[in-house]
Amino acid sequence: MDTHTPDIVIFGAGIAGLWAFNRFKRAGYDVLLLESDAIGGTQSMASQGIIHSGLKYAFAGKINKLAQSISAMPDLWRAALKGQGDTDLSAAHVNASSQYLLIPSGLMGGLIKLVTRQALGNNVHEVAPADWPEEIRQSGFKGSVVFMDEPVLDISSVIRALAEPYKDSIRQIDTPDDPFGFLERRNINPRHIIFSAAGSNHPIASASKQDHGLQTQARPLLMGMLKPAPYPLYAHLVGNSDKPVATITTHTDKDGALVWYLGGGAAERAKDAPPEEVYKAVRKGFAKYLPNVDLSQVQWAVLPVDRIEGKSGIDGWMPDTPTIHSHDNIHYCWPTKLTFAPLLADRLMEKIDTPPSGHTTDWDFLPEVSYAAAPWDKAQWTK
Ligand SMILES: Cc1cc2nc3c(=O)[nH]c(=O)nc-3n(C[C@H](O)[C@H](O)[C@H](O)COP(=O)(O)OP(=O)(O)OC[C@H]3O[C@@H](n4cnc5c(N)ncnc54)[C@H](O)[C@@H]3O)c2cc1C
Repeated sequence: MDTHTPDIVIFGAGIAGLWAFNRFKRAGYDVLLLESDAIGGTQSMASQGIIHSGLKYAFAGKINKLAQSISAMPDLWRAALKGQGDTDLSAAHVNASSQYLLIPSGLMGGLIKLVTRQALGNNVHEVAPADWPEEIRQSGFKGSVVFMDEPVLDISSVIRALAEPYKDSIRQIDTPDDPFGFLERRNINPRHIIFSAAGSNHPIASASKQDHGLQTQARPLLMGMLKPAPYPLYAHLVGNSDKPVATITTHTDKDGALVWYLGGGAAERAKDAPPEEVYKAVRKGFAKYLPNVDLSQVQWAVLPVDRIEGKSGIDGWMPDTPTIHSHDNIHYCWPTKLTFAPLLADRLMEKIDTPPSGHTTDWDFLPEVSYAAAPWDKAQWTK
């Protein structure tokens, strides 16, 4: 059997692996991207596609390094979406170019407004009631509407834009629990290895005794979905308590129905919590803050999913930046947020100390791998 010596092998084709893969391929590296399930990843396909600027973290009182480090990201993504960045996402679809922060009237609402203003100064742009978008007017919301300059992307199309140009170098691994054995059996001997395999990273590092000093965390979510949604809405609905009510993004399912995908407070619960808890929280929050939204005829679904990342020092919070744990030429990584994928790729590029070979190995001897379906297209819907 021939020996293959690519520059880099990456395990895991979620946003972290794909962004880095695309960057390395563009730079002329010979890269093999191995995926155990489907291209698009678990969390990445489950994400709401919001390219955060830090505003959400600022109003939550987290005026910290995270809010600062993430604030440069929307511009990087926008450049990529125009085909002008280090990565070409011009084939990807933008669901919304911006979204809104809805702050209800009341004591806590006033406090949140104040904190948000202090945190972001002139970046906070409150929308005058006469200029409220039609969908917010229709919802019956009362309070302040803050314009958030954060795009919301169609993640399936982002995934394809990253993968498609180099699809021949993305292949299936049939023994994900034994990645090093896989390489050995297939005679693949890379110079560098990157693990962007989310929840599998830590067990793999532990099994290979490469986990010294490594700490990770998994934070559960039970995301809600409802359809048909009355109209497209992209909003972060803050309640009159310290917990946000819901983050609402809109997607289209395979039959063309509009889906509201619901994160934030409504989804912050154990993955095995009864789905009705999510529906009840959404109904209650909407009845209070978006009273004109009629939920009497909608179907519901949930998606249980973990957010996996490096461990933060602050309980229940995420790290400020992506995490990379290196052991010689093997790098285990977590982007922390989809938004951070470009920054993670930059940092991984800094870790690779050899120039690109300019070679492209033919990986036809390994099985192909297909794209993942969107959550709303594989959900069990109930009335
Ligand atoms: C519900 C939800 C909503 C979110 N919304 C947002 C948002 O709006 N904006 C934002 O910035 N962030 C958001 N996030 C966070 C963001 O989605 C994640 O930080 C990011 O997608 C993680 O990407 P990843 O590539 O590390 O992981 P994943 O997307 O989970 O990909 C890991 C991949 O590795 C594969 N794999 C596992 N083991 C192996 C193996 N041994 N070999 C090969 N492949 C393997 C898996 O099959 C998977 O495809 C959200 C997260 C969740 C869960």
